[in-house]
Amino acid sequence: MAKRSGAESPPANVAMRYYRLLKGHFGSPHWWPAQSTVEVIIGAVLTQNTNWRNVEKAIGNLAQRHCLDAVAILALPIGELEQLLRPSGYFRIKAQRLRRVMAWYAQHMGANAVPLSQIPTLNLRAELLAINGVGPETADSILLYALHRPVFVIDAYTRRIVHRHELLDKDRDYDALQQYFQQNVPAEISIYNEYHALIVQTGKHFCGPQPECSHCPLRKVLPPSSQLRQMSPLKKMAP
Ligand code: SF4
Repeated sequence: MAKRSGAESPPANVAMRYYRLLKGHFGSPHWWPAQSTVEVIIGAVLTQNTNWRNVEKAIGNLAQRHCLDAVAILALPIGELEQLLRPSGYFRIKAQRLRRVMAWYAQHMGANAVPLSQIPTLNLRAELLAINGVGPETADSILLYALHRPVFVIDAYTRRIVHRHELLDKDRDYDALQQYFQQNVPAEISIYNEYHALIVQTGKHFCGPQPECSHCPLRKVLPPSSQLRQMSPLKKMAP
């Protein structure tokens, strides 16, 4: 695969080929592990800049305190909320951020509120992005996993794989990467959910800071021009 110029995008079927290769290797992993909508939202806020194990500890603290609920979280003194969130890191910032997101959610769950299911996805996304501290990855995780909207989530693993495979130029921003996937992958919640889970598995098992291409299910589609290919035993393998 030749390296692409800035304005050019890979052919449409490439995104689905990657999906099929990953699915063939990993099967059908599903994400997100949570018992309720509000728990997914809490996890989406807490997972910023930390690993999932730490998020689970913080969620466990909230569960023990019977606070997996927007109103209960808003009623907690800020100092106590900070201590419950401490395992997730940046706990003071996250406590404030979680309060703002829970206030947004509680407002939508009010007796006289328009049901979330009746609000267009773009409006909800704009509302979430207007909350201080909520970026596109958090907003889209909430939309896909908590509110079941067909929105493709771009995370650090996605960016790394896209760049290492030269699918899009490195200077493409979040929206450009999302647009690429949303234009080339059927807009089905189950596929978006599964595709993201497959990318996370690839990142965890193969495509870390030191990529292990020789065992990765995406080795077949690593472009010949990739430096990773030149550096790894892949160059001895059949394409
Ligand atoms: S480990 Fe190598 S082959 Fe696998 S996704 Fe990363 S760059 Fe591609």
